[in-house]
Amino acid sequence: MLQNVDQIRADFPILAETVHGKPLVYFDNAATTQKPRQVVEKLTEAYYKYNSNIHRGVHHLSQVATEAHENARKTVQQFIGAAHDHEIVFTRGTTESINLVAATFCEKFCTEGDEILISGMEHHSNIVPWQLMAERKNLKLKVIPFFDNGELDMEAYKVLLSAKTKLVSIAHVANSTGIVNPIKEIIQLAHAQNIPVLVDAAQSVPHFKVNVQELDCDFLVFSGHKMYGPTGIGVLYGKEDLLNALPPYQGGGEMIETVTFEKTTYNALPFKFEAGTPDYVASVALAEAIRYMQHIGLDAIKQHEDELLAYATEQLKTLDGVRIFGESMHKSGVLSFLIHDIHPFDLGTLLDQMGIAIRTGHHCAQPVMDRFGIPGTMRASFAFYNTKAEVDSLIKALKRIVVMFA
Ligand code: PMP
Repeated sequence: MLQNVDQIRADFPILAETVHGKPLVYFDNAATTQKPRQVVEKLTEAYYKYNSNIHRGVHHLSQVATEAHENARKTVQQFIGAAHDHEIVFTRGTTESINLVAATFCEKFCTEGDEILISGMEHHSNIVPWQLMAERKNLKLKVIPFFDNGELDMEAYKVLLSAKTKLVSIAHVANSTGIVNPIKEIIQLAHAQNIPVLVDAAQSVPHFKVNVQELDCDFLVFSGHKMYGPTGIGVLYGKEDLLNALPPYQGGGEMIETVTFEKTTYNALPFKFEAGTPDYVASVALAEAIRYMQHIGLDAIKQHEDELLAYATEQLKTLDGVRIFGESMHKSGVLSFLIHDIHPFDLGTLLDQMGIAIRTGHHCAQPVMDRFGIPGTMRASFAFYNTKAEVDSLIKALKRIVVMFA
């Protein structure tokens, strides 16, 4: 466990709040994480000291803001090990990044009958954008199934990959179960047939080291707000050649080179994909969040969260009537469960009364719930600022609730 967790917690003012008169226990980190003072201060600093629209000004403030935004891009590049900073496109988040790739990739490379391959454990954000394009272009969406323990069926994956497959788009870590997919193997198998792979890293980048060149993924997407950064900003990483081959997504702002009424030519990467005023304040704060994580250390973060997950799993299993969804050696940060036939909504509401925030429902992964034949689960998800004492509070609260329902 992290030795200085108290010191870390002191950087997150919200963790000292009380809810319904009880100390807050925040276990909803897969939905969004809390923000350290350092990140919030970066937002304030940008607005108070150098706020100015970027890229277009010769004046001092605009140059400072532009440099801060472009330095943030370099920080992201280094963080995920990309070869070039222009392979980093700032978006509003994972959802927008996937929509961007779905719209432009399918437009450019897919024709009737082609297949996009996703998995049965995807977040809706990695299902619906492909369905939209499938409807428009008569494509087929194929789905890799998963086993009862939540792990991906790799044999089924091998069978589903075919000459018709144009792209594989898959979660690195499933948000509903915490299952970590064998992403490197998934990519190698697709590449053996020249099929590019998009990795939804919304639940991996915040929790352990991810290096895009080591993985050799073609696209990788994630959200700032799930990794201690601000809302409204996310990242699309794409290999230079592929991004260059794609048409623009939205028009306007910095994405142009020249505009006439007859014809517009487009800017180089990454600006081609950043239409309109980017959130140049959020990008700077996201870079600060990355520095914060790096200061703790990605390996230390992983170790702390793995230990917490193992401890919480073991403690939860001491309760009667517990079912855990997603049981594997390969998990990260998420504990999804049900107790007897108590409805998740009731459990979540009672936990809230005790100051404990966990998520209940389908977690934007309804097909996962259908696969398990349940309406939803309780989901506790962990961050590096969580402690074993907080896990004890959760278990104690659950025990009380079970007695109430007995
Ligand atoms: N994919 C996964 C795996 C997620 O966990 C989430 C957020 N729950 C998303 C996509 C969507 O992220 P956002 O809402 O930040 O766009």
